[in-house]
Amino acid sequence: MRLLITGGRVIDPASGVDGILDILVEDGQILQVGQGVQGSEASASSAEPSRDQGKKSKRLGDQEASTTNVDRVIDASGKIVVPGLIDMHVHLREPGREDEETIASGTAAAARGGFTSICCMPNTEPVNDTASVTEYILEQTQKVGRVHVFPIGCISRGQQGKELAEIGELVAAGCVGLSDDGKPVMDAELMRRAMEYATMFDVPLVPHCEDLSLAAGGVMHEGRVSTELGFKGIPSASEAVMVGRDILLSEYTGAPLHICHVSTGESIRLIREARRRGVRVSGEATPHHLILTDEAVRDFNTNAKMNPPLRSAEDVAALREAVIDGTIEVIATDHAPHARAEKEMEFDYAPFGIIGLETALSLILTEFYHSRLLTLPMIVERMALSPARILKLKHKGTLAAGADADVTIIDPDREWIVEEQELTSKSKNSPFIGWKLKGKAVMTIVAGQVVWETT
Ligand SMILES: [Zn+2]
Ligand SMILES: [Zn+2]
Repeated sequence: MRLLITGGRVIDPASGVDGILDILVEDGQILQVGQGVQGSEASASSAEPSRDQGKKSKRLGDQEASTTNVDRVIDASGKIVVPGLIDMHVHLREPGREDEETIASGTAAAARGGFTSICCMPNTEPVNDTASVTEYILEQTQKVGRVHVFPIGCISRGQQGKELAEIGELVAAGCVGLSDDGKPVMDAELMRRAMEYATMFDVPLVPHCEDLSLAAGGVMHEGRVSTELGFKGIPSASEAVMVGRDILLSEYTGAPLHICHVSTGESIRLIREARRRGVRVSGEATPHHLILTDEAVRDFNTNAKMNPPLRSAEDVAALREAVIDGTIEVIATDHAPHARAEKEMEFDYAPFGIIGLETALSLILTEFYHSRLLTLPMIVERMALSPARILKLKHKGTLAAGADADVTIIDPDREWIVEEQELTSKSKNSPFIGWKLKGKAVMTIVAGQVVWETT
């Protein structure tokens, strides 16, 4: 299978490329990137006969293949061609809650959002704390997955926070990081030992930082709005004290640490100072924490309920600054599907979390690219290159020759409205339904195969 992507603005920060170029893809790999690339040139040395001589493409927007050695020519003129986006933080719900999301539906939503790889968090039913669960996820992905799935394994057995999970076994089975996400690891000694193992196996710890004794019973950010609404608040400190603890443990053990869904100014200050000292710490921000504040809770919409909660305007400003200056290197969704009946409960009782795979890129383009806060290369770094580097995903996050042919093609000016019935995810719990967004993935290519496209 050979694809030729022509005339797009190719942005690949890993190789310093930003220009109108063509890309030739063969057998799931990037073969060549350059000007005037033609399928025939690259295969001139090969005696392989054409597989589809004379065949004409019927797809809209395609040119007729300029050479008989190419299966499809994709005209990307006017579009942006970037390394396939990687979402480090997704809840796929399979196994256990297939009514909310499955590996099939979640990866289809990812493809639609421009993601070619996603990491799935281990708080499924059963949790991913053994090789058999990891293997199940990878086998299901082989069968029905639209994009690559990299599982994250549990830190503690059963996510109970008492004993370590079989970390070596999880890594050997294919886990690329460790987390008890959904829950924090409250026991500092257990976290220390997890970090020592993580160092041994060279996988990052990806903790959900929350001190439960401070957060207990809270349903939204603790501040003026929670006081006015009469809801129990979750103070910023409940996150920051755990970020501080984990930074100190990472500094002590040398373990690579990636902080999930950073939401407060205090956490950012701690991460920034630690990075200056050379601690191996990185962090991620979600589009919703970068765009919404606790004011969104005022209409009691349970799609404004997530953990960590939507914070104050000052926190959002600090988070934006951190994403812009690179203190926060990654944008990830924390895609958390929930059944409608559960989200339709009263605010106090509804579960935390929202979906995000199909809106993340468009929200970032709308709010950051079109308002000139982030350039396209900066967005590619935060949504593809940095995740690949932190997770040590070889041959991903770049379009250099020899890299995996995971490619996202973006129309930065395409305007669209988020409509519930258009969402591929099985769950529809998004606060962005009805929003008009500018910019969209229009084609997603995984291992050299077009897995999603729109005209
Ligand atoms: Zn979490
Ligand atoms: Zn999560």
